[in-house]
Amino acid sequence: MIVLKTNGEIKAMQEAGKIAAGALRAAGEAVEPGVSTETVNRIAEEYIRKHGAIPTFKGYSGFPAASCISINDEVIHGIPSKNRIIQPGDIVSIDTGATFKGYVGDNAATFAAGEISPEAQRLCDTTRESLYEGIKMAVAGGRLGDIGSTIQRYCEERGFSVVREYTGHGVGRVMHEDPSVPNYGTPGRGVRLLPGMTIAIEPMINQGVAGIRQLPDGWTVKTKDGKLSAHFEHTVAITSNGPIILTMV
Ligand code: MG
Repeated sequence: MIVLKTNGEIKAMQEAGKIAAGALRAAGEAVEPGVSTETVNRIAEEYIRKHGAIPTFKGYSGFPAASCISINDEVIHGIPSKNRIIQPGDIVSIDTGATFKGYVGDNAATFAAGEISPEAQRLCDTTRESLYEGIKMAVAGGRLGDIGSTIQRYCEERGFSVVREYTGHGVGRVMHEDPSVPNYGTPGRGVRLLPGMTIAIEPMINQGVAGIRQLPDGWTVKTKDGKLSAHFEHTVAITSNGPIILTMV
């Protein structure tokens, strides 16, 4: 069931989103060679708690941290660890969420650790740009497939591939609501977009094949071919005045 939000609820989600965005920015600024992913995670968690919010991810389905931190060929759901030290040239995806006054903000971005290769930079740029292209299609009267197909075309035209097994999602009082928001699709198909829908749009884009594999830790998802993956996400409200990005600092 898709839960439509009132303008008041969207405002409340904007407060949660602002905290999530601030936590993501603070954590991203900490990404540099020599730093552990546990340290990056701690910075996100401290930011969230300092702003009176709850780290949404911590304990979610048993996840042990406030953020997922996924490096290079890790697509999503990497578990922060003091033993995982960021290396020069890594690309580091951070996904974090905040629950504030009962509403969730969810966002992600991929950060460069020092100098990265031109190909890694192009993957990150394309993934980020595809998110904003997708957000432009989050308009009342459109269809869910307009968002996914736009992201898919943008990335595939540039030689990258779209992960199929994981998608964006509705978001509100809980992190995962209906509908699923795939990063692929057919224009004009899928759920009708209505004012009051709040969705997390989150392209997960691979340098090589689209296929993924799950690590035995039960969480970390990697690319099947060991090539790079990038991930960007915003929580977005669909309104009669167009899309509003809720996860802004
Ligand atoms: Mg999400």
